[in-house]
Amino acid sequence: YGDYNQKIDYVFKVVLIGDSAVGKSQLLARFARNEFSVDSKATIGVEFQTKTLVIDHKTVKAQIWDTAGQERYRAVTSAYYRGAVGAMLVYDMTKRQSFDHMARWLEELRGHADKNIVIMLIGNKCDLGTLRAVPTEDAQEFAERENLCFMETSALESINVESAFMTVLTEIYRIIS
Ligand code: GDP
Ligand code: MG
Repeated sequence: YGDYNQKIDYVFKVVLIGDSAVGKSQLLARFARNEFSVDSKATIGVEFQTKTLVIDHKTVKAQIWDTAGQERYRAVTSAYYRGAVGAMLVYDMTKRQSFDHMARWLEELRGHADKNIVIMLIGNKCDLGTLRAVPTEDAQEFAERENLCFMETSALESINVESAFMTVLTEIYRIIS
């Protein structure tokens, strides 16, 4: 196999957003390379990673963008959002503040992105259940009100990561095809 000579039918740009340290880079590493690194440094420089997959007999290249430590409010540039057809809005379920900031991230996303963008709300670090600071129902309620998909994930234990990305990519495919 390998990528060479592979005909790509679609390229979908998906952006990761949310506060620093919620696990965005580890979610991407888990999805794109099935890796997790315990002492991940703050992301530097890496713009995006790709993963090629098949949806409905079409070859789709997912191009997933990760913030390069620009998570301060309004520091993410409009170039980051440009052309995005999907977004993963990530909070840390053990950090209430990272969930409370979701409304702000969503507002910023909606201000920059296409109006048909598919958005998934992700409560990451579900392996740390005993430290939970955000009840599932609170997140569900927010997601329903804002018309977002919602899942709880663990990049560490590889729970729901594939499923979260595949749900977004399949929904994007459904909309554009
Ligand atoms: P980012 O700043 O949002 O990109 O966050 P990182 O991916 O760099 O992760 C921040 C910290 O959280 C690192 O110490 C990770 O090892 C840790 N982390 C990320 N995902 C998980 C997870 O699912 N479970 C646990 N327990 N820790 C995680
Ligand atoms: Mg990062």
